[in-house]
Amino acid sequence: MVYVLNSDGSPLMPCTEAKARHLIESRKAKVVRRTPFIIRLAFLVEGEVNTESLTLGVDAGSSVIGVSVTTEGRVLLEAEAEVRKDVPQNIEERRSKRRGRRNRKTRYREQRSDNRKRPKGWLTPTMETKVRAHENVIGKVCSILPVSRIVIESASFDIQKIRDPEVEGEQYQQGEQLGYENVKAYVRARDGFRCRSCGSRDHLEVHHISQRKDGGSNSPDNLITLCHGCHRGWHEGKKDMVTLSEYPGFKAATEMSTMRWILLDRVRKAYPGIPVEEAYGYVTNHERKSHGLEKRHFIDARVISGNATARSDGILWHAVARRSHNRKIHKDTILKKGVRKANQAARKVAGYGLGDNVMYAGQLCCIHGRRSSGYFDIRRLDGIRVHAGIHYRHLTLVERANTNLIYKEVVEVSPSGRA
Ligand SMILES: [Zn+2]
Ligand SMILES: [Zn+2]
Repeated sequence: MVYVLNSDGSPLMPCTEAKARHLIESRKAKVVRRTPFIIRLAFLVEGEVNTESLTLGVDAGSSVIGVSVTTEGRVLLEAEAEVRKDVPQNIEERRSKRRGRRNRKTRYREQRSDNRKRPKGWLTPTMETKVRAHENVIGKVCSILPVSRIVIESASFDIQKIRDPEVEGEQYQQGEQLGYENVKAYVRARDGFRCRSCGSRDHLEVHHISQRKDGGSNSPDNLITLCHGCHRGWHEGKKDMVTLSEYPGFKAATEMSTMRWILLDRVRKAYPGIPVEEAYGYVTNHERKSHGLEKRHFIDARVISGNATARSDGILWHAVARRSHNRKIHKDTILKKGVRKANQAARKVAGYGLGDNVMYAGQLCCIHGRRSSGYFDIRRLDGIRVHAGIHYRHLTLVERANTNLIYKEVVEVSPSGRA
């Protein structure tokens, strides 16, 4: 599939590779990017071109973001983006450097006490990066496809349906199983995603304190989160060994839900012309299971978009955020005689920069390290080293670096996805 831009830069429906080749050969289009393949038309297509409705599903996550653009029957784009993990570490490093600078014999720098008012909607740098990562992915997708609706999974459960008994009737109509999934998601969050007995975070299950066969209900006060081990222990009669801890409260779940709310708000403001809807995680889980689909972020995104049975061509794009430069001027360890060694090579060496895609011996590689001598550390796109020091003569430029490292994965198309 090739993504197509109108001559004014606005997205059009994607076309086939054969069509794109024809357009390029007849000089009616130009290549904009190769990963993924995007072309731009040389002539303006006017009028209502997009008759199909395109939905973008977003599986918001704190480490991986899944996105999927679907029509009723077809998957047009699927991607998983990794969120940067280095932010807390960088902030800590900055803090200690500032502290060091204050104590060193330099210009007097007064300690900045926390006397500045934070603007409304301020987030910690870690949270801000996470929210922005989502905004960026959504922005990228909307710039290459004419998306007409956005659905974001904003919470894993619907608290309204649990608190308000009035909704019970409606929940019953939707199926008891779905209502139970909602309660289970709520119970997991209430218990802080930990076993209420041993505190483990792995293999969590939801247990009925008073069992179903003894008339126990599916209400949250009859349910607790236990890990697989403790759960088995309970049912094997070693109930006394299981001691329940206090409710840890919502703390663990708060970060994620705050992030999702802010995201929803920002996306709504950024795309006033596109309806932005919310989806609940428990509904996604239920749908995914009922279609027998695999648990992966892009599959969840496909389910969130509302077209779980859309047919995919099996291509999944990965985007990993990476730095394009290093702003640290010199190495931390100062050499003898107070020589401060430069921390980095020039931004571009022999025309190549960090992250540029190059061809070496018939293999697609990426510049991982550059030295002023003109030798490069090149790696495969998945990070495996190809050469630790290769001279630039042996390299040919394929594509300039992007803030994201983008590579393709061919995934097995799930059975029901073949339809
Ligand atoms: Zn346990
Ligand atoms: Zn149980």
